[in-house]
Amino acid sequence: MTTGAEPAIAHPGRTIAFVGNPNVGKTTLFNRIAGIRAKTSNFPGTTQDARIAHLENSTLIDLPGVYSLELDVSESVVCRQVLAGALAPAGEQAHVPDAILVVLDSTNLLRNLSIAAEAIAHRLPTVVALNMSDLAARRSIQIDAAHLADCLGCTVIACSAHTGEGVHQVTEALTNATVPTRSVPTENHELDRWVDEIYATVATAGTNPSDRFERITDRLDHAFTHPVLGVALFTLIMTGLFWVIFRFAAIPMDMIDGLFGSLGDWVAGVMPAGALSDLLVNGVIAGVGGTVIFLPQICLLFFLIALLEATGYLARAAFVIDRLLRPFGLSGHAFVPLLSSHACAIPGIMAARAVPDRRDRLATIMAAPFMSCTARIPVYVLLTQILFPKQPGMQALAFTACYVIGALAGLGTSLLIRRTILRGKSRPMALELPSYRIPDFKAAFRLMLDRATVFLKKAGTLIVAISIILWWLGAYPGSPPTQQAQDLRTQAAFSSSSTEIENLYTQAEAIDARNSSANSFLGQIGSSVQPVFEPLGYDRKLTIGVLASFAAREVFVSTMAVQVVGSEDVDDDSVLASIANAKRDDGAPIFSAATSWSLLVFYILASLCLPTLVVTAKETGGWKWAMLQLGWMSFVAYVGAFAAFQIVTMVGG
Ligand code: GDP
Repeated sequence: MTTGAEPAIAHPGRTIAFVGNPNVGKTTLFNRIAGIRAKTSNFPGTTQDARIAHLENSTLIDLPGVYSLELDVSESVVCRQVLAGALAPAGEQAHVPDAILVVLDSTNLLRNLSIAAEAIAHRLPTVVALNMSDLAARRSIQIDAAHLADCLGCTVIACSAHTGEGVHQVTEALTNATVPTRSVPTENHELDRWVDEIYATVATAGTNPSDRFERITDRLDHAFTHPVLGVALFTLIMTGLFWVIFRFAAIPMDMIDGLFGSLGDWVAGVMPAGALSDLLVNGVIAGVGGTVIFLPQICLLFFLIALLEATGYLARAAFVIDRLLRPFGLSGHAFVPLLSSHACAIPGIMAARAVPDRRDRLATIMAAPFMSCTARIPVYVLLTQILFPKQPGMQALAFTACYVIGALAGLGTSLLIRRTILRGKSRPMALELPSYRIPDFKAAFRLMLDRATVFLKKAGTLIVAISIILWWLGAYPGSPPTQQAQDLRTQAAFSSSSTEIENLYTQAEAIDARNSSANSFLGQIGSSVQPVFEPLGYDRKLTIGVLASFAAREVFVSTMAVQVVGSEDVDDDSVLASIANAKRDDGAPIFSAATSWSLLVFYILASLCLPTLVVTAKETGGWKWAMLQLGWMSFVAYVGAFAAFQIVTMVGG
């Protein structure tokens, strides 16, 4: 029985909000009660959607699934605002709901109970639906609904959105819902104890060994959570995941790269040369292209993770990894965010939404940007080549060391903040594991679209703004042609060899570009900030490269190229060679061994990515954590780079 709506809830004009953890069957229950009248609507000013249904006498709102109503993630914020009467889906009037329906997964009650407590704390008429009762029965999990109702002080109904059993009773209970007669703890540590106690008195878990499904589940669980086999399977699955991402994302990434390249060429071709064309091509198009290029990775990552999560495997993986991450003050839930951050910290930080404990989540977000993302690779390539020319073995070793240093710095950071500002025992991972299920591809696709839109809107708009500002700072006030360049051009006018003419012109252009870069606002800022970076061994040009990298670290190589060669085309081998051999204003080489090591350490550790900071601010609900992240990473990077420079200088590098 999968179709047919339950009778409408007979009470005039009531609004009922559905809340619950993700994947508890909230939407299935909603659709069963609302039938064909349900539609999807978004919350104005957010990227969150809700199912909404107008029945004869009531309005149902299916809020986003959340692990907790108190998190700083947009899903939780939306839920809180709706329950407070401050927000409504587009086209609806905002007011405090007349009742809350809390949907819990009976097979996972321990993990679900805290959201019931959080909902009860709102002191609105409340009904609790123990959904998935069919699955609980199959697994011989018994829940004493009457006793739970006693503990919570509100009506509790066992039901199955899948079979329809008990759904009618839920709608009836909603008609007569009253404010809970008991109060519940609101502090995190009290809540954990409260949850454990209630769970112990209302639930008796057991498995029916004759059930074939249960036996398969047990075997799979045994393998997936085994200390050795579990880790091996985990490594295999994650390697597969990242192989798919890197292998298949490369195709659309190349296409996007090519598309923006051609777009830039086309605009440069049709528009008269000048400031506007330069702004569009080198500011806007290059900036947007540099952001959108990460979109395929982000989409694939979220799609695959959503699928893995839906199968029930991710909970097992988190369980295995939990043991390894605990010593660093992180929970097993942090693993996917940290691993994803090796592609890009932005989806990594967004994936941290799945970490249920707030302190664990913040520690994960603070550790994530230390993981070496793909944007660091060009800088690693440049510097390891400069440090170990023609020694591929050493280059590979140094490359690996970069990843290890980054990961250690991230784990060290979480250890430190869990011992200081985020002190306190984190909530133990719930041992109950969700059932294995066939993943819902449509739902995974929707989640992917949602995350992609967030990324494009937020990071995209900011990147464009920064690219424009950087372009402007680098292009203005502009310098007249230098005497030296003019002399070369005059010399070219008297030459008869076409190669010589071309050479002289290229040289003249390079000299002018260097000069105007040094005189630009960015160049002037570089000169005045340079003393700060002197102890790390950076001259004026490197300082400009580092400053430009604060928007996004991948611009380092092209910024250096502009300064030393006067050309942005860094694909050319000779351009990389000219960067490697670039001289300071006093004639000494820029990339001495000590400076190169210092720079390498700096780029591993520094927070050189504004979009990451924006996403951190968004995911933590304010700029406090983003600023702490920037400050802390800058401090660690500065100290690390200083130490590297001094040590290598001392040992005579
Ligand atoms: P939501 O994330 O809470 O909205 O969860 P969904 O409504 O998308 O349901 C998640 C999965 O659980 C889907 O595959 C549903 O078909 C399934 N499901 C929902 N309710 C029940 C139930 O009562 N029993 C069983 N066996 N499966 C259910």
